[in-house]
Amino acid sequence: MRRLFLTSILLCIIFSNAIGKKNAPPNRPKLVVGVVIDQMRWDYLYRYSSSYGSRGFKRLMRDGFNCQNTMINYLPSFTAPGHTCVYTGSVPAIHGIAANDWFDNFSGKPDRKVYCTEDNSVELVSEGSTLKKPMSPKNLLVSTITDELRLATNFKSRVFGVALKDRGSILPAGHLANGAYWLDQSTGNFCSSTYYKKPSPDWLKTFNGRHVADSLIALDWTLLDPSKKIYTQSLADNNKYEGSLKGETAPVFPHSIKTLKGSELYETFERYPAGNTLTLQIAKACRDGERLGEGDATDFLCVSLSSTDYAGHQFSPNSLEVEDMYIKLDKELGDFLDYLDEVEGKGNYLFFLTADHGAAHNPQFLIDSGMNAGFMPNTIKNDLNAALNAKFGISPVSQFFNYQVYLNDSIISGAHAEREKIKDAVKDWFSKKAEISFIADMEHPERNSIPEPIKTMIVNGYSRTRSGCIQVIPAPGWYEGYATTGTTHGTWNPYDTHIPLLWYGWNAPKGETHRQVNMTDISATLAAMLHIQMPNGCVGVPITEITE
Ligand SMILES: [Zn+2]
Repeated sequence: MRRLFLTSILLCIIFSNAIGKKNAPPNRPKLVVGVVIDQMRWDYLYRYSSSYGSRGFKRLMRDGFNCQNTMINYLPSFTAPGHTCVYTGSVPAIHGIAANDWFDNFSGKPDRKVYCTEDNSVELVSEGSTLKKPMSPKNLLVSTITDELRLATNFKSRVFGVALKDRGSILPAGHLANGAYWLDQSTGNFCSSTYYKKPSPDWLKTFNGRHVADSLIALDWTLLDPSKKIYTQSLADNNKYEGSLKGETAPVFPHSIKTLKGSELYETFERYPAGNTLTLQIAKACRDGERLGEGDATDFLCVSLSSTDYAGHQFSPNSLEVEDMYIKLDKELGDFLDYLDEVEGKGNYLFFLTADHGAAHNPQFLIDSGMNAGFMPNTIKNDLNAALNAKFGISPVSQFFNYQVYLNDSIISGAHAEREKIKDAVKDWFSKKAEISFIADMEHPERNSIPEPIKTMIVNGYSRTRSGCIQVIPAPGWYEGYATTGTTHGTWNPYDTHIPLLWYGWNAPKGETHRQVNMTDISATLAAMLHIQMPNGCVGVPITEITE
């Protein structure tokens, strides 16, 4: 009898456990925090590591999972496509964010540049602003992982994006975001648009009322180590590859921009390491104000750090400025992770860190060091039109932009010229130039003899409606016409497309892989970990070293 009684109790326990499990929600973290570092080359994890502490990058590498060989698998490697790919698992051919700016092939306005997040159907929400830049994710043609999280939880999950750059905030947060905030360069405050239901929450008003940007500008940009002993990876200050900040006569420390006013002041401030300080402060204010991670469903905070990109463009990788910025960023990341441990609890949040693209060394620095590199001339469109005019009597190239040739079809049809013959002449013109590796006719990809992985990157990057019909691939080390100081990015080469990818916290194993994974795999991995649908344009696959 006693045995029967015990068996019944045991059966009851098993049965109630089964019911309990059936009704339990999927195992998910309280919060996901994604950090995209704008223009961070993978090698920066190691290049400056002798000056990194134990709480920032090294903590992520030690206690998290390091995908050492993460590649961007499309062109062009710019900011807007990068942020979009991270959060959609998709490529420009599908998600439509073909570059930061593009020209719409079917709008009938071949000279009207379209900005990736422009949207004239909404209004900027920014007190005292002189900007007329209404923004939204309207031009993004697919869903983001953050959209899918909202859909998967019947909108109980909350999603926010913060960055200095509008595109760094808006594109990750997606179509269904609860809010996205970026820096209004005319006021130094964070702003939003009427696209969002909460463009100006109380916590944001309080944050803006503190005028944090002004306090940081007043401190100037001084080196963390004024003796310069810790900086082992840079040329001397004031070298010829650095650009000067507005209002300065030479690119030397300490940098001070206090005499600038309005948009010039805040645009220049974005190049300071303190731009990252400001961004991480608003990330915390958003988390605290919205109590992210404290609800019933998983929340998502998208953070993009833009100052690394502005400084990289201005000073180039071999500068004291970039080295100082990463050493400071490492400490601030450590503080941010400590803060998340405290408010969310260690292991309760999933954290990932990646980059939207890398950057080249300054081409002139490479030339002076004895390498093959160079700047493509700024006159390509005019030179090309002159050559075509001599042959066909028309100037049909409307743009040379993003390394792509856009043709003006009304000029071509008006002159009864043959489009295919014009394209052949364009290809012929570029083929005589040693600084061009390949020329691809995107309307006939089967005609292009181009090796992998470049071939796939070109196909992945071509948007029928928004890209030029001929893609030009410059030789390694070469760039589209750019200031001879600083640097840029946008090509297929590893310095632009090999990015860091680190996973840390909730359900992230410790370890690393050198197997190649692609930027498109990030959202697929998040979908697998969160047990939600992949974004609707996702072409990536889960990184099984993390999900299994
Ligand atoms: Zn970028």
